[in-house]
Amino acid sequence: MDRRHFLQAMAAGAACMQAPGLHAAQKPLDDASIKDYLFKIRHPDMHHASDVVADERTRAILANVNRRLTAVREVVGFGNFNVLSFDEMLEFGRRYSQIGEFTRAELDLLESLFYEDASRYGFYGEKPLGKITQRVDLREVIKIPNTGHYVFAGKSLTLYEKVLKQVGGNLTLTSGVRSVVKQMQLFVAKADAADGNLSLASRSLAPPGYSFHGVGDFDVGIRGWGERNFTDDFADTDEFRKLLDLGYIDIRYPQDNHQGVRFEPWHIKVT
Ligand SMILES: [Zn+2]
Repeated sequence: MDRRHFLQAMAAGAACMQAPGLHAAQKPLDDASIKDYLFKIRHPDMHHASDVVADERTRAILANVNRRLTAVREVVGFGNFNVLSFDEMLEFGRRYSQIGEFTRAELDLLESLFYEDASRYGFYGEKPLGKITQRVDLREVIKIPNTGHYVFAGKSLTLYEKVLKQVGGNLTLTSGVRSVVKQMQLFVAKADAADGNLSLASRSLAPPGYSFHGVGDFDVGIRGWGERNFTDDFADTDEFRKLLDLGYIDIRYPQDNHQGVRFEPWHIKVT
């Protein structure tokens, strides 16, 4: 990240934090910056002039990390990858030649993505995880048959089962527990596909450490819809309408939220 981009992002971030009512006591709302903020989260996959984009060297490292994380997922399998820890990821890299050991530069990038303040590229949500090495305790999660995903036992599982029963239809779990590594892989893949645009990636995916999938949230969708579940189409389904009619469901990222994230009608807030 070069300094110019960093400063631009800080300026944009400062403007946004005063936007939609967050610090009402501070400066009066600036219409232009609110408009710009809303335009970005309503068009998450567009490249915007004020987006923070990784420099060329970082982009090359990002591409390597993306390849290596994909190789780790292939070796451990999709389901296990959802709950894989950072230390286990390193161990798989050392042991399997088709993955290969993560380089110092790659680890530096992953550490900076985890530990740096994501508001610098426009993500303003809370950070529920504090350590890159945080593990998912397998005694605390339940694998949901036919989905490849897990949910946390207790509150998350109770809510998931209740919702499934009351909404019925073709509703299913589309993403549940995500370890730090899983969130890294999703974020890095998105940023790599977006030519290193970290702001663009963070409008659709919480950066590693910032995802509530790490502590209890889960996504629901229509069985057989695949990636289409993660589009606005989900908001037009009977299942989504029924979900809202239940009256006790909270969406983590509602329309025009303050976290810098697109509308995610499928993402159920648990904690
Ligand atoms: Zn989600």
